[in-house]
Amino acid sequence: MTRVVSRFPLLPMSLGIERYLTVHTYGEPDIRPKAYLQAGMHAGELPGVLTLHHLIRMLDAGEDEILGQVTIIPVANPIGQSQIVLGTLHGRFGLQDGVNFNRAFPDVVAEVGDAIAGRLGPDAVGNVAVIREALLEALALHASEAETEAEYLKLTLMRLSADADLALDLHCDDEALKHVYMAQHSWPAGGDVAADLGMPVTLLADDSGGNPFDESLSKPWLDLRTRFGADHPIPSACLSATVELRGMADVGDALAEEDATRLYRLLQRRGIIAGDPGPLPKLERPALPLSGMEVVKAPLPGVLSYRVPLGSDVVAGQPIADLIDPTADDPGEGRIEIKAGTDGYLFTRRAHKFVWPGTVIAKIAGARPIERRRGRMLTD
Ligand SMILES: [Zn+2]
Repeated sequence: MTRVVSRFPLLPMSLGIERYLTVHTYGEPDIRPKAYLQAGMHAGELPGVLTLHHLIRMLDAGEDEILGQVTIIPVANPIGQSQIVLGTLHGRFGLQDGVNFNRAFPDVVAEVGDAIAGRLGPDAVGNVAVIREALLEALALHASEAETEAEYLKLTLMRLSADADLALDLHCDDEALKHVYMAQHSWPAGGDVAADLGMPVTLLADDSGGNPFDESLSKPWLDLRTRFGADHPIPSACLSATVELRGMADVGDALAEEDATRLYRLLQRRGIIAGDPGPLPKLERPALPLSGMEVVKAPLPGVLSYRVPLGSDVVAGQPIADLIDPTADDPGEGRIEIKAGTDGYLFTRRAHKFVWPGTVIAKIAGARPIERRRGRMLTD
């Protein structure tokens, strides 16, 4: 199967500079199922970028026939990747407006709902086709009205993915074990994503409060079902997930090849590539609510020293780190314990050990929803 490489120019924001998205596609545009994979939305997060390089290499090798279509964007955010300031790549927030590149994706569900009212029927497959077409039309209209390069980028990525059956957005955390975020309404249908990718942590929420890329693709189906589902069947037709491939420093061919092999098997299991993926691996740990994930933050400035490694099962009240103020008059006084606030599995830490109030020190996946975890549940 041949690969087509396309380049989509973004809106130029300066004279003499034009950036573009490089998109690799396999398969005929009308053949299903369609898989969409992107990486580098947070431009400095490289594990997924290298993983998609290896996936392209594997698909090019052509050992198994591609039965559906596959779209791959290894560098989804050329804006962020060009934000090199004083020797450091700042790929998480747009320098122009301070907005997190993976938040505030456009929500077009209200106008899509208006456009399809009266056009739905008793057949779920037909309804999916009607909705996909309306989604793509609404996104094209918004793209023509985009005011900034980042807004145009988001709309372009959505236009390339909104009709996908499976859409994966590859990220990484600071220092972390693999984990995956997806919609509650995509569970347990998305269980193979977590299992094939060997995820020790799976976090579920229908609305995380930030409208990241994966939710901009999955949530319209839930919202339209809420609006029309009593009379017309509307499935969750786009299984999308944010896949966190460990930490920022976990970049290398060996890990990327392992992750690409896992993605390849998932594509086989989903009928997008021919061939036997083998038995579905057992999920290490059950999926948990995102509202049960504690985000442990620093209360004061200081130097962190962890007491527990990644992958620790901790209990509420257990000290997980010390926060040290080396300027204290009495060294014995210049130290506080940072404690877990919930029972759970500690799966992220901070790589750089100087912190200030509000800095995220750890994430702990717990089973019990945490009362204050409402509204914006993702970290910025
Ligand atoms: Zn990210």
